[in-house]
Amino acid sequence: MSGLTKNIFGAIITLLLIAFVFSLFYTEQKPTTVFSLDQLASKINSGEVAKITVSGNDLTIQLKDGPQATSKKETEVGLSETLKNYGVNPLALQKVNLEIKEESGFRYWASILIPSLLPLLIIGVFLWLMFRQARTGMSQAFTFGKANIKLFTQFKDRITFEDVAGLKEAKEELVEVVDFLKNPKKYLEIGARIPRGILLYGSTGTGKTLLARSVAGESNVPFFHISGSEFVEMFVGIGASRVRDLFRTAKKAAPCIVFIDEIDAVGRERGAGLGGGHDEREQTLNQILVEMDGFDRETQVIVIAATNRPDILDSALLRPGRFDRRIILDLPNINDREAILKIHSREKILNRDINLRQVAERTPGFSGADLANLLNEAAILAARKNRKEVIQQNIFDSIEKVLLGPERRSRVLSVKEKEITAYHEAGHALVATSIKNADPVHKVSIIARGRTGGYTLKLPIEETYLRTKSQFMADLAVLLGGYISERIIFGDISTGGSNDLQIASDLARKLVTKFGMSEKIGPITYGKTEELVFLGREIATEKNYSEKVAGEIDKEVRAIIEKARDLAKKIITSRNRVLKAIAKKLIEKETLEREEFDTLIKSFKLKPISV
Ligand code: ADP
Ligand code: MG
Ligand code: ZN
Repeated sequence: MSGLTKNIFGAIITLLLIAFVFSLFYTEQKPTTVFSLDQLASKINSGEVAKITVSGNDLTIQLKDGPQATSKKETEVGLSETLKNYGVNPLALQKVNLEIKEESGFRYWASILIPSLLPLLIIGVFLWLMFRQARTGMSQAFTFGKANIKLFTQFKDRITFEDVAGLKEAKEELVEVVDFLKNPKKYLEIGARIPRGILLYGSTGTGKTLLARSVAGESNVPFFHISGSEFVEMFVGIGASRVRDLFRTAKKAAPCIVFIDEIDAVGRERGAGLGGGHDEREQTLNQILVEMDGFDRETQVIVIAATNRPDILDSALLRPGRFDRRIILDLPNINDREAILKIHSREKILNRDINLRQVAERTPGFSGADLANLLNEAAILAARKNRKEVIQQNIFDSIEKVLLGPERRSRVLSVKEKEITAYHEAGHALVATSIKNADPVHKVSIIARGRTGGYTLKLPIEETYLRTKSQFMADLAVLLGGYISERIIFGDISTGGSNDLQIASDLARKLVTKFGMSEKIGPITYGKTEELVFLGREIATEKNYSEKVAGEIDKEVRAIIEKARDLAKKIITSRNRVLKAIAKKLIEKETLEREEFDTLIKSFKLKPISV
């Protein structure tokens, strides 16, 4: 209930109460005849009155022949006195049965107090309501300093390691932690120091939060969950006091686990950054460090933190005794992807012929979250097509949707645009199939998607964490293939390829300044990229080299691009017939799947060119 409705509610209740109290007094009075004292006196004198009951100033008169009547006496004077003043015969009065009723406490006092106190009472009630309102506001302000920790133990959807696919090393590490919390004695007796902090890192969607939750499910100890951003709110000083509160609660509940998600929100490198408010963050971070240092050997509180930006974490967090265990969560490999798909297909109705392995093959680079999303998209697609179960094609169609955003069929290409796009994509595809080291083409399409015009989807055959220089050169040539093709066929260039050129230039510059892949420049990296906390992105690259070196770098970048361009040019001019065949087929069918594309290429019996 909001404060306002509460107030109105309170006011209504009060009014109802007042009405009730009033009704108590008024309904008791039966409508009876009212005598003036004068009348009463004459009735007494004529002997009609049997009994008078006096209650305060009220007189209830019982007449001999039945009916009752009421009257009032004067306030200060006794009844007999009053009646005497009205000329009642004392003898006649003696015959009347007089009963003096002590005015009953409540009614008496109420009749005196309520009229005078009622206004005060109403004012009092309103004041009380207002105070209460203010007090809740105040106590809200006080709880700002309390950590908004959530206890995970009573979670309905308990998650265990079973629900997390892959991540084998991470799980092993965490199993140890769980075991420690279950039998701390075993470790303490042998003199082992308990790990205090475990830092999970990996890119978004790799399952950090999921894994931490599964630890909660496995260990059966209290699990406190807070997100880094919750430490820092509007008021200065809140963060640190929340940290204190969190650890106080945790120590009371030990053995237990504290999970700080997205710790980079508070744990950024101190003393960096432009924006205001990072003082607050520093205080919060300092408090975390202080609290973790304050654990003694026996404290059975384990702090797990997660981040996708380990590079920007303050180095103090990583020192021994703090987050000294670090677990890296990699993007899933093909087996893991299959396992993740299996887990997420549990609640979905899939066709019997679905082959999740094939889906896994087509989704390198997808994170766990992407895969979960993929299956969901597939289910939505199937439902939209009024299917009762999800078929393989629904999943395949969703892969690109997850990759590139929804298909924009509504964007109609003019005939000319379609031709240009077809030759552009054919250029990419031809160069990609021609070069030995390039990734094979999985799909070519001139249907616009997301922000790209058409696209050529090429995927590595196997996952590679390392790429060689010749692979990069192949990538560059493929990137430039679209641009070259347009130039050769139309003698003109459209804006469609500018994104390719941008990517190519960036890649070439990286080869020279980061990967040391240029002969002339040699194995030195240039430029220190500094993270500006305020914007949270790489925006400033400090130039730590001279103008002369800068010139050389530019020259090398240009040389690399030119080499790639020449390669692409050579392929496209010498294999012009193939280019035209691909483009024609694209204009006709708009999308070529891998099999169609391969059959088309095979008929030309091309020899792979090595870089
Ligand atoms: P992060 O915290 O690393 O950004 P999450 O833990 O929030 O990622 O993962 C998002 C979702 O992706 C999870 O809820 C889960 O559905 C799915 N997911 C990610 N990794 C896995 C995995 N290894 N096994 C099963 N599901 C996963
Ligand atoms: Mg997360
Ligand atoms: Zn392109």
